[in-house]
Order: sequence, then C-alpha cells, then structure tokens
Amino acid sequence: MQIALLKLSNKEIPGIEEHKHIFITEFISADNILESDIKFDVVLIISNIENEIISTTKELRSENHLIPIFVSTGLEKNKLKYNAYIDGYYESFEDFYSKCSSIIEIGNSLINRGVNDQDNKILEFLLCRPDYVAQPIKDWKSRKIYTYPILNVFADEGTDTEQWMQTLHNRDLIAQVELVGRIRECPFCGSAHLMFVDICPNCQSIDIVNVPFIHCFTCGNIEPQEKFISGDSLNCPRCMTHLRHIGVDYDRPLENHLCNSCGHIFEEPNVIANCAECGNNSKSEELITIEKYSFQLSEHGKVVTQHDNISDVIKILDNINYAHLPYFQFITNWLISMYKRQNDMNFSIVGLNLDNMAQLINTIGRGKASMILHGFAESLRKLVRTSDICTRSSETHFWLLLPQTDSKGCEQFIKRLNDIKHVSEHEGGEALSFTIESYSSDKDFDQDETSELIMAALSSRLS
Ligand SMILES: [Zn+2]
Ligand SMILES: [Zn+2]
Ligand SMILES: [Zn+2]
Repeated sequence: MQIALLKLSNKEIPGIEEHKHIFITEFISADNILESDIKFDVVLIISNIENEIISTTKELRSENHLIPIFVSTGLEKNKLKYNAYIDGYYESFEDFYSKCSSIIEIGNSLINRGVNDQDNKILEFLLCRPDYVAQPIKDWKSRKIYTYPILNVFADEGTDTEQWMQTLHNRDLIAQVELVGRIRECPFCGSAHLMFVDICPNCQSIDIVNVPFIHCFTCGNIEPQEKFISGDSLNCPRCMTHLRHIGVDYDRPLENHLCNSCGHIFEEPNVIANCAECGNNSKSEELITIEKYSFQLSEHGKVVTQHDNISDVIKILDNINYAHLPYFQFITNWLISMYKRQNDMNFSIVGLNLDNMAQLINTIGRGKASMILHGFAESLRKLVRTSDICTRSSETHFWLLLPQTDSKGCEQFIKRLNDIKHVSEHEGGEALSFTIESYSSDKDFDQDETSELIMAALSSRLS
C-alpha cells in the first residue's frame, strides 16, 4: 500500500513505520502529492488546523475522487466541518489499514469506468463508502444556509449544487436519511437570508412598541399605563376615576402593542420577511419551505453505479458471431418473408437475460465475474453454428438467431444452453444466472410478424 504522508504539523504517527508492504512517502503540500509520479493508494494528513485540512482534502479529492483520506490531528473530532470530506481518523494502524483497504477494493472494481462526470464521481465515491451519509452543514456564507460539502467538492464549475442534489434524488440515485433542518426561502430570489420584521397590522409601519396597557372598567378606556400614572396613583385620563384594585377597577388588556406612526393598539404585530439579498418583502405564508435531509446512495443508485460498469464485462459475449442489432433485425425480417413464401424455412430466436451480472461483480469482484462470463462464452461458442447470429439489445439482453431451426431444434438448443450454466460456476459457488425465452416460426408464427414484435414480446417476458 502506497501511503502519501502529508506532514502539515510535526505530530508523530505511532505504529505506522513498523509494517512491511507499506510504503510511506512524506510530503509537505497537496500539490507535491498530485505532482508526484507515484500512484498513491491513501493520503494521511497530519494537521491541527481545520481550514488547512479542508482545503487540502478538497484539492486532493478534486483530482482523485476515490482516494481514501485520513487525518491525524490533535483537534477535537466531533462536529468538525471537515468530517464531511475525510474518511476517518488515524487511531490505530489496524483500523486505518482495514478501512483504507475496503475503500480501495471497491474502487478497484470500478476500473475501466466511463466518463468521469460529476454524477459518476459522487456515485462512485458513495459506492466505495457504504456507510457514508452526506450531511448538510450550516454555513452562513451560503445563500441557502445549508450546503453539502461533498457535493461542492465534486460539482463541475457553475453547477447549482442544490439543483444537482434534487436531480440525483428525483432519479432515485440518492435516498434521504434524516431530516436535518427546514429553511424558508425568498419567493423572489431563492435566498434564505431573510429578516423577520414586526410591523403594525394597520399601517405596516415598523415603528411599534411593546408597552403595558390599562383597561378602565368605569369608562372602558384602554391606553398605555403611563397615561394613567399621576404621582403615586393610577387615574383614568378619560373619566378621572381613581383606580385602586386590579380586577375590580381595572385590568390589563391583551393588547400590548402601540404603533407610534398611526396610534393603533393591537395584540399581535404582523410579521413580514424582508429578503437581505433582493430587498423584497413577503408574508410568511408566501415563503418557500425547503426541507434539508442528509442522504446516502440509494439501492437503485448502487445498482446503477455498478450496472453502468458491467458493459466491459458483458462485451466478452460480443465476440460470438456478433451482429449489430439493426443487422440482426434485418436478417430476421428476411427470414420472416422467406418463411411466408416457403413454410419449411423454419427459424428460431432465443433471448437471454443475464440476471445477476451486476451482483456478481459486486460480490466476487470484476475479475472473477469476467472469468465466469468468459467460461460461459467459450461454451456458448461451441454450441453456436457458423450460420447463427448473436446480438445484444441492452446490457443484459442477449439474442441468438437460429436459421433452419424449428421448435424441436430450438428446445434441444435451450437444453444444452442450460447444461453449460454449471460450466460457468465459480469455486465460491457463485454462478451466472439467466432467463431464457424463445420463439420458433413453426409454433409461434403470426402473419403480421416483424423481428421488432418478436423481440419486444420476448423482452417483456425476460425482464
Ligand atoms: Zn375611565
Ligand atoms: Zn400603524
Ligand atoms: Zn430575495
């Protein structure tokens, strides 16, 4: 294991030097690591400055989205902002080594992946870290208050991470874990920086005061208490009654707000939200409510992330009498028209769905899964005649066109196909599993038949 040790402070790491098959190279900056010719498996940062850890991790992750990054620090570990960026703390060598290994192992199974777009980066990052939960972090500098640090790391320039996360969620690639917060946004500009201001319900002035009021039972007068005070006693300014006992002569009304602009007396002020960004005022019911959840890779997201990557394994099957789909369909349509003219010109189509390719890659790794499929392909090659044609219509739907084959011949073919299933078995007991559906002209022919209709009908039964 090649470890890049990024020494930003002088703290020593106990126990790390003693292990063989561990190669440590020391660095003093992230740039040096990225410029190095060595391909590192892990980066271990030694630092006691939070912002330094954040900027370094961001830099490393933007170049290598899967690399495990661990930290050794004297800082208190919980609630630190950089927890979202790192894979953990160096506590003991064994713990560090096993956590790194698991990330590296899943990462290696993703070799030969396609374009590294932002979706791919975040999905693969999450796939390598099955327990990772992306937490929204409060950041007053962000116009939405909450940000997802890990999205900011992988987002292409100009990406609205809020929208991006929404898209990932709509596509069911990520799943909500826990409701963390609820924010209100300005309906005009979307900013979450709102000031809630109390105003007079009568004239909307903000010049309102909260003062104690008195309600005179004799004449019903309600006015601020200060108007009743004369010397050391209370007298109603309207009816001049001397107010002695609360509950008998007077009481305190619910109204306790006074507008200095219009003199209105009221119980509850109105509240408006004033946007700090665009300056517009909104009533609270006009604000947009956004709920903030922590999230993780969904089950569907896992399958998609792996599924996207089975194409290179599946390609093994494309060496057997392979024809592109349109050509396959063209030949089938030609056979259909031949059969219409001469109904002893039988043909059959066999459709195969490879049921568990993605799971195989996931459980036994890409190398072994390829071996299994390779073994299957070799046996299939022996079974297929030179005049048979194969194609694929999707990643897991594999097709064989068997000219001059009636339903009886097709049945025999399927029997042998099932026989070679066990050939492809792996020592661990893992085997390729597939579903077979077939069509034979002597049994299933319809006057309006086309190759598209046949394949569509078989496809729907296959998946
Ligand atoms: Zn009175
Ligand atoms: Zn007013
Ligand atoms: Zn606004």
